[in-house]
Amino acid sequence: MPKACSAVNCPNRDTRENRAKGLSFHSFPKAHELRKKWMLAVNRIEPGSRKLWIPGSGACICSDHFFQDDFEVYGGQKRLKAGVIPSVFSFKVSQCQKREESPCTHTI
Ligand SMILES: [Zn+2]
Repeated sequence: MPKACSAVNCPNRDTRENRAKGLSFHSFPKAHELRKKWMLAVNRIEPGSRKLWIPGSGACICSDHFFQDDFEVYGGQKRLKAGVIPSVFSFKVSQCQKREESPCTHTI
């Protein structure tokens, strides 16, 4: 089973095809404070308990939910900068934010 992105409504899976497209998958940080910030950013709710979803050991977030500036290249590999929090949770919104000169007409 390939890993899948844990973001709500994100269909991305860690497949060779997606890797070839430049997608990368990033595990939740181990540091407690940062992990919590990720959980809040992801804002996923357990359907049963209605509490904030707690990521399991294999949970990860794909690179669609980060800005280009959030990454650095280290030893030929793309990785997240320290302390970065996923902040892009709609592909359309991220496209709008990149084109600052034209107003965003998408509804969220
Ligand atoms: Zn994703």
